[in-house]
Amino acid sequence: MRYPRLAAMATAASLVLTMAACGSSEKTSEKGAGSADNAGALIGVTMPTRSSERWVSDGDNVKKQLEALGYKVDLQYAEDNIPTQTQQLDNQITKGAKLLIIASIDGTAITTQLENAKAAGIPVIAYDRLIRDSPNVDYYTTFDNFKVGVQQATSLLTGLKVLNADGSKGTAKGPFNIELFAGSPDDNNATFFFNGAKSILDPYIADGTLVVKSGQKDFDTVATLRWDPATAQKRMENILTATYKAGTKVDGVLSPYDGISIGILSALKSGGYGTSANPYPIVTGQDAEVASVKSIIAGEQYATIYKDTRELAKTTVAMADAVLKGQTPETNNTKDYDNGKKVVPSMLLESVIVDKSNYQKVLVDSGYYTADQLK
Ligand code: BGC
Repeated sequence: MRYPRLAAMATAASLVLTMAACGSSEKTSEKGAGSADNAGALIGVTMPTRSSERWVSDGDNVKKQLEALGYKVDLQYAEDNIPTQTQQLDNQITKGAKLLIIASIDGTAITTQLENAKAAGIPVIAYDRLIRDSPNVDYYTTFDNFKVGVQQATSLLTGLKVLNADGSKGTAKGPFNIELFAGSPDDNNATFFFNGAKSILDPYIADGTLVVKSGQKDFDTVATLRWDPATAQKRMENILTATYKAGTKVDGVLSPYDGISIGILSALKSGGYGTSANPYPIVTGQDAEVASVKSIIAGEQYATIYKDTRELAKTTVAMADAVLKGQTPETNNTKDYDNGKKVVPSMLLESVIVDKSNYQKVLVDSGYYTADQLK
């Protein structure tokens, strides 16, 4: 929690500075971006889907904070449908948006829209998900996605007691049967999460502490298109039927996202897990969505990764405001996010592992959720 607080203070301070700079002489860059005329401008915000709580909070937070700075906002959700998202972007460009904030569904599918944005002098910020294969992406705001994967794998090892919470060697030696799930192959983040997790798990797989009993280990095999919980549930059911019939048990499941964890837990429940004689394996997650935090409190899902969407919104809004005023926004990574055409200057925030032992402090005391929401 230390970093998000600091980040909050830094972002608040930069907002104040940005606001103070308003009215002083500002350099005007290319048409559209960086002009004093941008006060009160329309900003297009596109989010992937309302079906996951986190994107609803992201959209609400970004809109609220942009409006507080006097901008007009067109906020759109595409329900994970790519043509819907491209059409929303076309509309925003036609309506005269001066900047686009995009959380893409497929990070390679909006190249034409970005070309049109570029031609109209509209700067683009990729929100949480990197937009790939286009030179027309100006900035990227996200969390440290490789580290999210490291944290997911670490929580799996802690749950199995292979590691202690402080990272030291735990008491358990294994071997433990585990299964691996990854996110959507068209979302750049999914690879980062998986590679981060594998960087921690691979040595334990190599020395036999962990056994991926299904043999399904490579990204393409374990990926879950559109992060769909039902797809993950089906895959887990198939794995249980094919691999765990003769009294063998699955001890841990690497899950990259809370929605997928819910699908996995349902499959496990149908497979006879979740009783005192046959408890659930250690199941990880991401996003600290309400249903999954409740599941953690109930002792079902083991852990999740909390990414404070309020902070991501703040950082993005400060970035948008700076760009529209012709200033150079703050970034803290200019090497890791190569989108295939350019390295996109990025601002990375920190995430936190949440389990039963710290959810109260991290999620409730910080005001992210009220205690009542988690009842
Ligand atoms: C986000 C995750 C989220 C996933 C599914 C990713 O791009 O970074 O926070 O769990 O999409 O929505």
